[in-house]
Amino acid sequence: MRLSTLFLRTLREDPADAELPGHKLLVRAGYIRRAAPGIYTWLPLGLKVLRRVETVVREEMDAIGGQELSFPALLPREPYEASGRWTEYGPNLFRLQDRKGNDMLLGPTHEEMFTLAVKDMFSSYKELPLTLYQVQTKYRDEARPRAGLLRGREFIMKDSYSFDVDDAGLEAAYQRHREAYVRMFDRLGLDYVVVYADSGAMGGSASEEFLAVSPDGEDTFVRCEASGYAANVEAVVVPQAPPVDPGVVAATPAAHVEDTPDSPTIDTLVAQANGLHPRADGRSWTAADTLKNVVVLLTHPDGTKEPLAIGLPGDREVDAKRLDTQVAPAEWAPFDEKDFAAHPLLTKGYIGPSVLGLEAPSGIRYLLDPSVAEGSAWVTGADEHGKHVFDLVLGRDFTADGTVQAAEIREGDPSPDGAGTLTLARGIEMGHIFQLGRKYAEALDLKVLDENGKLVTVTMGSYGVGVSRAVAAVAEATHDEVGLCWPRALAPADVHVLATGKDRAVFEHAEKLVAELEAAGLEVVHDDRPKVSPGVKFKDAELLGVPTIVVVGRGLADGTIEIKDRRTGERREVPVADAATQVLAEVRGDAHPA
Ligand code: ATP
Ligand code: MG
Repeated sequence: MRLSTLFLRTLREDPADAELPGHKLLVRAGYIRRAAPGIYTWLPLGLKVLRRVETVVREEMDAIGGQELSFPALLPREPYEASGRWTEYGPNLFRLQDRKGNDMLLGPTHEEMFTLAVKDMFSSYKELPLTLYQVQTKYRDEARPRAGLLRGREFIMKDSYSFDVDDAGLEAAYQRHREAYVRMFDRLGLDYVVVYADSGAMGGSASEEFLAVSPDGEDTFVRCEASGYAANVEAVVVPQAPPVDPGVVAATPAAHVEDTPDSPTIDTLVAQANGLHPRADGRSWTAADTLKNVVVLLTHPDGTKEPLAIGLPGDREVDAKRLDTQVAPAEWAPFDEKDFAAHPLLTKGYIGPSVLGLEAPSGIRYLLDPSVAEGSAWVTGADEHGKHVFDLVLGRDFTADGTVQAAEIREGDPSPDGAGTLTLARGIEMGHIFQLGRKYAEALDLKVLDENGKLVTVTMGSYGVGVSRAVAAVAEATHDEVGLCWPRALAPADVHVLATGKDRAVFEHAEKLVAELEAAGLEVVHDDRPKVSPGVKFKDAELLGVPTIVVVGRGLADGTIEIKDRRTGERREVPVADAATQVLAEVRGDAHPA
């Protein structure tokens, strides 16, 4: 890769549309180029890094017996219709028609295609277990493409699928993938955590995510030091609060409606309650004594709308992502003026349980936070402007249609496993492993004959890695103020050789050194540009982020060449005669730590 001819133009200015530093640097260093929002071109250097990530991923997949194949991205509608995902994917799916008017799609993930291929080709338990994978381009019309490659609308995913006759087989395939992912992400040099990803996964492992720890991540996860429990915040299952002691319930006064003028928010309600209706026990009312009822509008994949009411303690907010997970595949939006106008039973700011519930006058489904205990008493809306009801007891005075895991999780909350308290941090989802079970095999009728000649439905796992996302995540995790800073395993080259100055001897010597390094099997970026100043060459070398920088320049007259470590900034002069050996030792020493 000679910079005199390489298809590269580095930029001094940050791209206007980039928020994160790694993204800015990938564009400035000429690794990627935006083609459209969330859609990027891989330039030569970027493609090298991508290929290196792919190599790590392929080696680990091959090591667990995965067989690589490649499905098209352009797919027919029918299989996705059969699985329900043509509808479920909603606006995230890129849909198109061919010239005959047939519906088609650009694949967002390929469970259906793999299932059908196995169904066509295999028919006996003897042919299982089977693990297939591809490293392939996916399309999702994301609502919020973000940070370049981190959340693209076209992106590269490694997706694999396991096929087994029984649950034990699936569990084993899942564990093999988990171990392969640990090796993969270790090799990529990411600081990552493995977290429960699925609300059904408490104590089990039906689904886990690999999150790169990063303040810029879109996922929030919790950890419990004491037990090692770690979960995506979406997957945290807050245990149901135990019922209140019947004696306490019996002593709770009958519910009573009180005037609380101008109290449409929790803060104003608490102030009014303390001013106008002080507690008998002398303690002050707090937000935690109030029951807040939040109404949202669901849009189901088929386009139908449905209001949903959520009751939760007034000191907590609804967590948008937790609610996303709970209502999926439906989407939700806050109730707006128009929605309130369409539901006159709901008094904005004063909504209470008396109108909520499928059996209640509104007919609106009403779900409670699990921290709301049977027998607990609340201050909540009285469904009348300026009024709230006090001492309203769950089970005695009101009921709901069920519970929902949608309240925010906070630092210091008890761990769901009872072992201690939770801490919160953010991460970027790099991989996801998932025991699908028989869902797709049933929908698409994938059966094989078992040992007794009986047809059994195959059980499947699905396992994804964000390959293009990994390039971005590593760039974010490793860059510094002046440029990218690749770990050896992913760098587009092993060495960046600079020839600086005007001296012919310098250029000739650099040529010789590069030839030697290449002959020894190294990949070299060679800055052989004749009329570019040393300052520009140094800046570009730092921007590109190849881990070892070798400067053939002023020192040559004294018989020395400089070797610089891009990551530590450490530099040393070595005798010209030793240069190639020393560079090789450095590259290999790093590549194979003792
Ligand atoms: P996210 O929650 O980030 O939207 P997801 O849960 O929808 O991801 P999966 O369907 O599990 O993603 O896909 C497997 C992997 O593909 C993810 O773990 C992630 O690394 C990667 N991935 C998913 N969506 C994108 C995207 N829009 N751009 C880049 N990589 C993605
Ligand atoms: Mg996922």
